[in-house]
Amino acid sequence: MSTGTHRRADQDRLDDLQASLSKEFEAQTTRLTELTADTGDPGEAHTRQALIAATRQSIEQIAGALRRVADGSYGVCERCGGEIPAERLEILPHARFCVPCQQKQNR
Ligand SMILES: [Zn+2]
Repeated sequence: MSTGTHRRADQDRLDDLQASLSKEFEAQTTRLTELTADTGDPGEAHTRQALIAATRQSIEQIAGALRRVADGSYGVCERCGGEIPAERLEILPHARFCVPCQQKQNR
């Protein structure tokens, strides 16, 4: 429980990020449980399926981001190895590519 080591701002930022990603992960997991447990109106089944798919996808994205935070590759573009700008990560915390690479990826 020592607080003697001075931590770098970067590390603090990653800790914050990890905390908010974990929270989001839990929220999405809870949501997914609720969605899959809901056996209500069959008329909503289609909408629910779409929601389940979208929720699963965000859980995957968040899990991937958490993994990258843990192994130290977070914020590095998976395609060109360059740094992903902080502004982009703020908008899209689970971004795996820098903007130019994302655009190539979408093609
Ligand atoms: Zn890139």
